[in-house]
Amino acid sequence: LLFILQPDVFLNSAYSRNCNYSVLSGSSVPDSYRQLQTNYIYKGEKSMKLLKDRILKDGVVKPGNILKVDSFLNHQMDITLINEIGKEFKRRFSDCPITKILTIEASGIGIACIAAQYFDVPVVFAKKAQSVNLDGEMYTTKVESFTHKKVYDVILSKKFLGPEDHVLLIDDFLANGCALLGLIDIVKKSGATLEGAGIVIEKGFQHGGQEIRDMGIRLESLAIVDSMTEIP
Ligand code: 5GP
Repeated sequence: LLFILQPDVFLNSAYSRNCNYSVLSGSSVPDSYRQLQTNYIYKGEKSMKLLKDRILKDGVVKPGNILKVDSFLNHQMDITLINEIGKEFKRRFSDCPITKILTIEASGIGIACIAAQYFDVPVVFAKKAQSVNLDGEMYTTKVESFTHKKVYDVILSKKFLGPEDHVLLIDDFLANGCALLGLIDIVKKSGATLEGAGIVIEKGFQHGGQEIRDMGIRLESLAIVDSMTEIP
């Protein structure tokens, strides 16, 4: 299993986006690589270190560029870790007048709920629906699922988001950006102000992050994986 994780460019401006560290794990890993891993991790802040350590320790690369983090984020949830993630989102967006956190079902919900305790705001989640009755009471958009390769209608009741809101988007992964672009479209339709997006794991080798940043949206990813390769 090979990960190349980016240093946290948002936490410490001394880090350059081009400065990558190779991080290998597994029994046949040369010591030189282990050294790089240590150098890298101890430059991060506490919550980042916890997250990067955990990705390196328990992340599994699956065919199709899928990073499985089922043991701590997507199936079993490590609440101590997610609590640190929630605090870190609050730290990064502490200057924003957030009134609502918006996420998409299902895997973003738990993370958003824990983060929301630090912002003291409600969480609202967009629901995936197979078909939509356009009755005027819902904001609707379409999202292509990266993991399931399906297009979903995504809906949100107009009751729960409006022009008075300042929104922080939260999700577990950012890959091609479809989920986030769907949420951005809903915020636009609601007339609310989009303050930014917080992502736990960004796959930096896919185009979503670039696209969102190019739109001028403030995007904070707590770990950026630059590449991943299965080592047999
Ligand atoms: P995007 O819409 O940015 O292409 O993909 C983001 C969504 O797909 C996330 O909400 C996440 O649920 C899922 N996803 C994308 N890539 C991965 C991955 O490598 N691992 C996991 N577990 N989920 C992913």
